[in-house]
Amino acid sequence: MTATAIPDPVVTLTTGPVDAYPAVLRALSKPVFYDYDPAFLAQYAAVNAKVQRAFHSSLPPVILQGEPVLGLEAAAASLIAKGDVVLNLVSGVYGKGFGYWAARYAKELVELEVPYNEVISAQAVADILAKRPDIAVVSLCHHDTPSGTINPALAIGAVVKAAGKLLIVDAVSSFGGMEILPEAVGADIFVTGPNKCLGCPPGLSLLHVSAAAWDKIAANRDAPVASILSISDWKRAHEADQPFPFTPSVSEINALDAALDVYLAEGEQAVWARHALTARACRAGVQAAGLRLWAAHEDIASPTCTAVAIPEGIDEAKLRALIRSRYGVMLSSGRAETLGKLTRIGHMGTTARPIYAVVAVAAIAGGLQAMGAKGIDVGAGVAAAMRVIDLAAG
Ligand SMILES: *Cc1c(COP(=O)(O)O)cnc(C)c1O
Repeated sequence: MTATAIPDPVVTLTTGPVDAYPAVLRALSKPVFYDYDPAFLAQYAAVNAKVQRAFHSSLPPVILQGEPVLGLEAAAASLIAKGDVVLNLVSGVYGKGFGYWAARYAKELVELEVPYNEVISAQAVADILAKRPDIAVVSLCHHDTPSGTINPALAIGAVVKAAGKLLIVDAVSSFGGMEILPEAVGADIFVTGPNKCLGCPPGLSLLHVSAAAWDKIAANRDAPVASILSISDWKRAHEADQPFPFTPSVSEINALDAALDVYLAEGEQAVWARHALTARACRAGVQAAGLRLWAAHEDIASPTCTAVAIPEGIDEAKLRALIRSRYGVMLSSGRAETLGKLTRIGHMGTTARPIYAVVAVAAIAGGLQAMGAKGIDVGAGVAAAMRVIDLAAG
């Protein structure tokens, strides 16, 4: 401890990294086995089987040894060939970011971009695919976290599949917190991670790769091999008798194993329901407190993150700093285009508990009141959040 040490937060209600489940923290303290220890090889195969179960997938997953940005960049590098036209769907900062990778590998990047408080319409995607039959790959960010909005992935996936195109889906901050499954959306590469709704620390990427995507990667002479960006290097790593391309992150695999046990034992429906209820209570609370949601319509607001528009004249960074120091509550800022305009409350994994919505509403409304914002009613916000929780309890 130094004189300037900052006290730990009382509660971390961010949009990732998130507070890990206690069982995950215990798993992180396990002995670090040699990666070719038969016990680790068996565990690695079992963890892959658990991911496949959680994915409801007909094929084994691929686990890449780096946080999900690795999975996303690897998807672009592997699936997109030099001659490809790519349609990138942009409703926020992550969708936009994927386009920079796609442009690096594609012949041409076509973007459909909507305001960052709106979502992509499946009809608009169908219209572009009809006009541009040369498009080979479509990329979608399901939950653009810096906006807290959910794109209609099922409808968009159906349109992309009907047109016979390959689909890349970033479901990093939605998988595990709501119903979004790789084969149900028709994803050819589906990227998620353990560090959002599964309640793990950052460190791994979890991918589903379809048979069509494996074929395309095999035919793409520029797809990375013997590389940190390679997906194909890891294709058979889930088989206990296959070598690893390089040493997997043993402790992160232990953590993921524990997180999947938590998820599968509680049951996905129950996990999704508590994410949804927490977000519903939070939305009711912030609006009753006198604030606006960032999302243009409440029905596109995410069940895993509530983005709250910050009133004119309030310095968002100062607001979060005040909430952190006065109440010990850590919240997330916006990013890039949404930075300074909104504050985000995460409902992910351990923090997808309805009572945390009350904490978040009290903290954000209390912080704004302390900064002199007009028209803020902390009590009304707290009461509204509680009402949603109590009604759901029956
Ligand atoms: C968190 C997240 C990622 C991974 O990026 P980070 O470096 O962990 O921020 C990718 N896509 C989305 C939509 C995310 O929310």
